[in-house]
Amino acid sequence: MFACCAFVSGERIHRINAVREITAEAPLREDLGERFDHCDYPDGKVVLIGFPSRHLNHSCDPNAYLHYETDACYVLARRRIAAGEEITIDYNVNISGGTAWPCHCGARRCLGTVLGDFFLLPSEMQSEYRPLLAEWFVRRHAHRLVAP
Ligand SMILES: [Zn+2]
Repeated sequence: MFACCAFVSGERIHRINAVREITAEAPLREDLGERFDHCDYPDGKVVLIGFPSRHLNHSCDPNAYLHYETDACYVLARRRIAAGEEITIDYNVNISGGTAWPCHCGARRCLGTVLGDFFLLPSEMQSEYRPLLAEWFVRRHAHRLVAP
């Protein structure tokens, strides 16, 4: 996803297109092209993410983050974003026990791996991202988190 215009820090960029919750009764339909790597996992749920939200790429030094609100999840700017700049989030925020894979994001501080687990991030990155964590993630992992 690329910015169509400039955004200031904290500005709402995009409402995540949550297609539906994946449940035992309504499982993922891989025969229809639905994929687990297009899902989000908020608060123990599995939610299929649609176009264009599912094209939001990872960066080890992202310019945006996800903000879960009552009605929906939004992408907010983490810093000033110029028109044309790629909008990225760090996939290691709001996840624990996920899958790791190689990272080639190109950020100066790239870890070389998308860890799939907030708690495996270097402690300074955990501190930096602490204010960005979702309320549900903080509640589920309160025993492992230090105060912001
Ligand atoms: Zn990286």
